[in-house]
Amino acid sequence: MSESYKPKGKLFVISGPSGAGKSTVIGRLVKQLNNVYFSVSATTREPRRGEREGHDYFFITNSEFEQLIREGKLLEYASYVGHYYGTPSEPVDRKLDEGFDVVLDIETKGAAQVMEKRPDAIGIFLFPGSYEILRQRLMLRSTDSPEAIEKRMEQAHVECSRVEMYKYIIINDRVETAVDEAIAIITAEKCKTSERLHLLK
Ligand code: 5GP
Repeated sequence: MSESYKPKGKLFVISGPSGAGKSTVIGRLVKQLNNVYFSVSATTREPRRGEREGHDYFFITNSEFEQLIREGKLLEYASYVGHYYGTPSEPVDRKLDEGFDVVLDIETKGAAQVMEKRPDAIGIFLFPGSYEILRQRLMLRSTDSPEAIEKRMEQAHVECSRVEMYKYIIINDRVETAVDEAIAIITAEKCKTSERLHLLK
């Protein structure tokens, strides 16, 4: 193996109910680990206050989204509380080839598609501690109507029922601990013999 050999990156799928704190945890871990790329999804939902195009999401129309589906440009996609969400394949594959670890923040239907297509993807499920805390977080966020919050709560129960397809669970009742645990998981996965063997050759 040549000295310049750089192994491909690893794919991490992070799911958990909306309001579990995935964006916060992912934002912090991306800052702390210098080899991690966050995959920016496309969505048809409206931007929330403070969200930036191309940073949080690519905000696109229904017809633009359906064109991405037709052209086979999405690694996975799903409809979630009335909107489309999907992961553009090209940046994910490019970053993995360049040796970056890639983190997806996606709901469980999309996660199942990724695990099917990429059996080596590592699933991490983030839960906020309790459903009551989740409801409070969604209310505090004050970006969703009471009806939308109820839909997200219903969806949270559905998502939690699919937790067994994930390799790891993080309970996010303290964000610093959740970030430490996510970093520990990523680090341990990178230290596996199968990942490191090439260094000894
Ligand atoms: P939010 O509207 O709160 O940003 O996201 C709603 C849900 O959609 C969250 O559970 C989030 O993880 C999920 N999501 C975000 N991007 C994607 C994506 O590209 N694909 C799928 N399947 N779900 C996504």
